[in-house]
Amino acid sequence: MTACLAPQPPSTLPSRFRRLGKALGGAAASISLAVGVLAPAVPAFAQSQGPSFIRDTEVEEILHEDADPIFTAAGLDPRDIRILIVGDKDINAFATTGGNLGMSSGSVLALNTGTIIKADNPNELIGVIAHETGHIAGGHIARSGDGQKQALGTYILTMGLGVLAAAAGAPDAAFALIGNSGYFAALSMAGYTREQESRADQAAATYLDRAGQSGKGLVDFFDKMRYQEVFSDLKKYRFFVDHPLSGERIDALRVRVEALPHYKAVDSPEAIEKHRIMQAKLKAYMNLPQQTFIDYKETDASFAARYARAIAYYKALETDKAMKALDALIADHPDNPYLYEVKGQALFESGRAKEAEPAYRKAVQIKPSAPLLHLSLGQTLLALDDDKRVDEAVAELRRCIDLEGDNAFAWRQLAEAYDRKGEPGQARLAAAEQYFALGQMKDAKIFAARAREQLPKNTPQWRRATDIFLVANPTKDDLKGLSRDGGASFSGR
Ligand SMILES: [Zn+2]
Repeated sequence: MTACLAPQPPSTLPSRFRRLGKALGGAAASISLAVGVLAPAVPAFAQSQGPSFIRDTEVEEILHEDADPIFTAAGLDPRDIRILIVGDKDINAFATTGGNLGMSSGSVLALNTGTIIKADNPNELIGVIAHETGHIAGGHIARSGDGQKQALGTYILTMGLGVLAAAAGAPDAAFALIGNSGYFAALSMAGYTREQESRADQAAATYLDRAGQSGKGLVDFFDKMRYQEVFSDLKKYRFFVDHPLSGERIDALRVRVEALPHYKAVDSPEAIEKHRIMQAKLKAYMNLPQQTFIDYKETDASFAARYARAIAYYKALETDKAMKALDALIADHPDNPYLYEVKGQALFESGRAKEAEPAYRKAVQIKPSAPLLHLSLGQTLLALDDDKRVDEAVAELRRCIDLEGDNAFAWRQLAEAYDRKGEPGQARLAAAEQYFALGQMKDAKIFAARAREQLPKNTPQWRRATDIFLVANPTKDDLKGLSRDGGASFSGR
């Protein structure tokens, strides 16, 4: 069965998807409530039951370390594949074309946090990734119709873990999240045939072996979920609705992987430690602090446990305890940029931007290649409410955008910064870029037109505004207006 990829309101979803639809409704409600509350210290999505998109430099880096060798083994360029983290306890993973998410090219591999947390070791997670890569490389991906294409992923790709709190201060972003979640849910309903499943399993076994990995993890992960076979679709994890399991299928895969040269390969201690850290971080952000203190008891002195507890303190608004825990971790690991990032975030969200600044600055200094760290520093500088610091904020936001041009949240911050600097033309252009990155062409056109009015003619910025205007589905009247004021001469560039 090929699922319909059109966004649908929950009530029109097939019955087996209603549970998810309802959950999305729940998410919408809690996010709406958060709108208007200034910088709540507890991330909005932590209270919601529905999926949300997550950005986190550290988690993305670990996932790429896990996945890139598999992509390469499949003959794909890892740079063409965007890994999307979906904050949802349900087990799911899916692959789609970038085009389905409004990206100009490439593929997307989406992984639920539930999948990451339920994978007992890196090899199991890498096995699931290899299976999805089998669907990508095998071309089993449905394309949505042109009329349904929306750039939906990119804007929320700008959000850090727990930074949905930032969306709470940005009603449009929160709104876009709600709208897109439904679309996203529909998009993830892949529904592969038994033959496609078998081919993806076989491909996975090949890629894993080529990458020097055992296929044992994938078999173990499926085996662990075997009990789900007898459940109705409604009770199954999402992944096993779209990728139906059977004893026969698992046995066929087991026979194959056991015969491969790298069957006995095991995860490196370093990979295991990173997997634990990633799980601890995700759980600490997604679960209530009380749960984290149960999962990671005070007696557990491992890095992952201390990290999880530090995040839980920050989420529980016990900022001083969080600082103590983080400073102790930093003393032991002074070169870990993510400890400074969490510290910066905890301080920023408790209204202590001035103290957050040096923490983020240190994170940026250690890892200047990470766009999200520049974004956080820029946002913090802007929040200092000191006009003398706005230029620095602009510079950091620009660095983020240089590395990640479609980061809508960075464009939004940049628009605010230019307004503060008294540069309305630049501010409108940044707003146009923001909507353009979100795929919201109507607003992109409106802001591009305003930018053109206020920017000096024939400057690069004015031309960029003209370009956005021209690609944002202008009407005939729009184009007539444009040719009158000289813009048309640039349309043919
Ligand atoms: Zn599958």
